[in-house]
This record gives sequence, C-alpha cells and structure tokens, in this order.
Amino acid sequence: MATDTLIILIACVYGACVGSFLTVLTTRLPMMILGTIKSPVFDTLWGRSHCPNCNTLIPFYRNIPVVTWLFQLGRAKCCGGKIPGNYFMLEIVCAAIPGVFLLNFDTQSALTLSLFSYFALALIIIDIRHLLAPFAITIPLGVLGLVLAASGTLETNAMKSLAGALFGGGIVLVLYAIGRLTTGREWLGLGDLPLLGAVGAWVGPDGFILSWAFGLMGVPVAYLRRLMPSDPDVPEGALPMAPPILVGALITLILSELGLLIPLLEYNN
Ligand SMILES: [Zn+2]
Repeated sequence: MATDTLIILIACVYGACVGSFLTVLTTRLPMMILGTIKSPVFDTLWGRSHCPNCNTLIPFYRNIPVVTWLFQLGRAKCCGGKIPGNYFMLEIVCAAIPGVFLLNFDTQSALTLSLFSYFALALIIIDIRHLLAPFAITIPLGVLGLVLAASGTLETNAMKSLAGALFGGGIVLVLYAIGRLTTGREWLGLGDLPLLGAVGAWVGPDGFILSWAFGLMGVPVAYLRRLMPSDPDVPEGALPMAPPILVGALITLILSELGLLIPLLEYNN
C-alpha cells in the first residue's frame, strides 16, 4: 500500500511538470502559428523559461511547478509582475490527472488515459482561445492512437483504429465539400481533419459516434468560451470543435477501459 501511494505521488510530480510544459505549449505554439511572437525568447517550445512580464530568464530553482507559484504568492521574483493564476490551475489539474486514474485503473490504462487527457487539455485550451487545432499536436495524437491500438494497449484494435482515423477525417472532408458546394461557405475548416482523425484512431468508428453523442450532451462550449479570453479576431459565433469531441472521446475511453462499452459496441471483437 505504501508503494502504491509513493507511485501515485511520483506520478503527480511528473504530471505537474507536464502541466508546466503545457502552459508554455498553449501560450507559445499559437503565437508561433499566428506570427504574434513579441520577443525572440518566446520563439521556441523547448528553451529555458522566461518571465512572462519582463522576459528575464527564470533560474531553475524558481521554476518548480505548483510550488513556485504558491511560495511567491503568484508574483514574479524578477519584476514583481503577476504570474497568471491559470498557469497554477493547469499545473494542479495536470498533477491530479495521473493520480485520479491510478486510483481507479491499472497502471497501463492510467498511463494511456493520462496521455490522452494531456493532449486533449492542450488542444481544448488552444481551440477555445484561438480557434486553432495545431497539426503539431493533432498529428502526434493520431499517430500515438494508431501505435497504442496496434500494440494492444488500447481497448480498440489496429484495424478499428485505422478505420476510425479514416472515418473521422473523412467526415470532415465530406462536410467541407457539402458546405462549399451547397452554401459556398466552409462549415468546418480542413484544419479539423487531423483532429477528428486522431480521435477516431483512439476510439474506432463506433466510439467516434459515441464520443460526439457524449460530447454534445456534456460540454457547454459557449460557456467555456466566456470563461477563457479568446483572440479578438475570433468571430463571436464561432464554436471550437476540440472541447466537445475530446471530452466525449475521453468519456468513451474511460467507459471502454471500465468494460462498460463491450455490451454496447462489442469492443473486443
Ligand atoms: Zn519578471
């Protein structure tokens, strides 16, 4: 029991570090895509951390996820500027994710569910703020889904995973074509193709339909957008695709790991 607690604690520490990286990723990647980088120090995802207010290099001992923010009461040591509270929130959520899954699932399932959750979190935050689904995140997510399915790590198998990817991506193509041909407008961007393809790779075609059902039931997207400030050039009525489909897919993955979808979808073939 003591070892279990230790493993969970270590996983939470790793999770907090992932959260720290996600704050960098969700801030800088959209800037890199949209070309709104204000300072060359923010031009990379992997470099050392700099203060978001004054660009001063942050020493490693002042860059400890969760702890630094608490000890410095949300203020930067260099300039006294505010460190955004949502950096701290994201680190806490990311620290909790593997802990919650390890308490309820075996190690392998907990790891795959955590991985999917981290990708989903990054995509949801970026999509709500900027109406973007960066290929740099969606394509690795899709490849990871195919690899995990082929290696027998996911509940779905390699064939279903591939079929799901083609199904998810194909739906985007079909809707895009119908929109252009009938109304002359794009109902959804082709940028969503790898996003929906990636979801299909993780849950298979039947899981993909189920994910939409769960997602549309459970995610008040319009409300989420009011909580998080978005780019001024994002149109008011535009709805991001990532939140409903990724939350729906996570619910589908959790239910299938629990074995609750087998009677419904014959997941094990
Ligand atoms: Zn500073």
